[in-house]
Amino acid sequence: MTDNSELQGFYKLSMEERREILKKATSLTDEEVGTIANTGGLPAEVADHMIENVVGGYTYPLGVATNFRINGKDYLVPMALEEPSVVAAASNAAKMARVKGGFTVTNTGPVMIGQIQVVNVPNPEAARGKLVAKKAEILKKANDQDPMLVSLGGGAKDMNVKVLSSLKGPMVIAELIVNTGDAMGANAVNTMAEAVAPLVEEITGGRVFLRIISNLADRRLVRASAIFDKEAIGGEEVVDGVVYAYAFADADPYRCATHNKGIMNGVIAVGIACGQDIRALEAGAHSYAARTGTYKPLTIWEKNKDGDLVGKLEMPMAVGLVGGAAKTHPAARADIKVLGVKTAIELAEVMGAVGLAQNFAALRALASEGIQRGHMKLHAHNVASSAGATGELIDIVAAKLIEEKKIRFDRAKELVAELSKKGNSE
Ligand code: NAD
Repeated sequence: MTDNSELQGFYKLSMEERREILKKATSLTDEEVGTIANTGGLPAEVADHMIENVVGGYTYPLGVATNFRINGKDYLVPMALEEPSVVAAASNAAKMARVKGGFTVTNTGPVMIGQIQVVNVPNPEAARGKLVAKKAEILKKANDQDPMLVSLGGGAKDMNVKVLSSLKGPMVIAELIVNTGDAMGANAVNTMAEAVAPLVEEITGGRVFLRIISNLADRRLVRASAIFDKEAIGGEEVVDGVVYAYAFADADPYRCATHNKGIMNGVIAVGIACGQDIRALEAGAHSYAARTGTYKPLTIWEKNKDGDLVGKLEMPMAVGLVGGAAKTHPAARADIKVLGVKTAIELAEVMGAVGLAQNFAALRALASEGIQRGHMKLHAHNVASSAGATGELIDIVAAKLIEEKKIRFDRAKELVAELSKKGNSE
């Protein structure tokens, strides 16, 4: 906490100087400053150039999910996140999916949309026609910005134009359709959108304001599916339970938000581990889920004629291997190596499979034993640790909390005090 958040020239200082100021302004202890200063697997000078006003780093645990078989290939999946039981659940779901061959995933290609907003257009419909007529010229201007992308087979491939009626009257929106290859593509697409804006103004006689990528990446979808053998997952009752859980999510946005959140547990954990723009992934997922005007699940669960459970996922997956943190963060580079993906679409496909696996694991737990049992076991370790337990004491306190069925911070504190006293006197 601070009394004054106006830190003049903070951005010009070194990381060390910024930490000194932060320490004075917030009464952090030396130990706390040391904790913040630690950039983990990210060299400090790299961190300092990734964002602004950098004072240190922040580390997540990195787990590796096992058992994934996707499109006939095995993968070890790095997952970075703070939530207990996600990695275990993904590994367990992937193991069950293997019984019927694992996950099958397809994709619609790495295609993003860049929007150019034109306002004050004298005749919007006529302007639309003029833009369409000049499409080749506009696409050429866009592609001139990125010869590298074009040489690799990517670039601006098409353009749509729509007229929106808005709060501020009609506006013309030109949309560049760009194949971004192995890049997530936001910089590439934004550069193109900015470059064509003067030409778009000239053609339409209007004024361009926004020139920016859309994160509703509905031309960059992954479709994952898997069959879960009824015996392997605990019987036909579990199959029915998952199908009912899906029907609940389909009928109710309150349930659906948590249904889709479960999918994102997997997607975002792999996204963080592999240096992806996870805000773009979240924005894409939820806007796609709401594209019909009603918020819907990103997965479908059905029972097939053999009584097995069939899961299908469809969602945008705007990820890249070149550019962004995937390139600059050494841990992301190492994690991508662990995964062994060679292209952005292969990464997208793996993330789709993980999303489906994660959703299955959550629904299976909810529809059978309830989610808390597995969750609370891992949670007990976190509670023990935040109550001050260290080393072996974490396991001892966690076991006691579970045995007493009281996984609570106050009880953990008591146990830590009690057991450490015992340890000291012995
Ligand atoms: P980038 O600009 O760093 O890299 C893309 C460029 O790499 C391409 O334009 C191309 O010239 C080159 N390239 C080399 N090899 C390539 C290959 N095999 N395939 C494709 N391109 C290749 O990165 P980017 O992916 O355009 O942008 C991603 C960054 O943009 C992320 O860090 C993201 O956070 C950020 N961003 C996101 C948004 C958003 O709304 N989602 C907005 C602005 C910025």
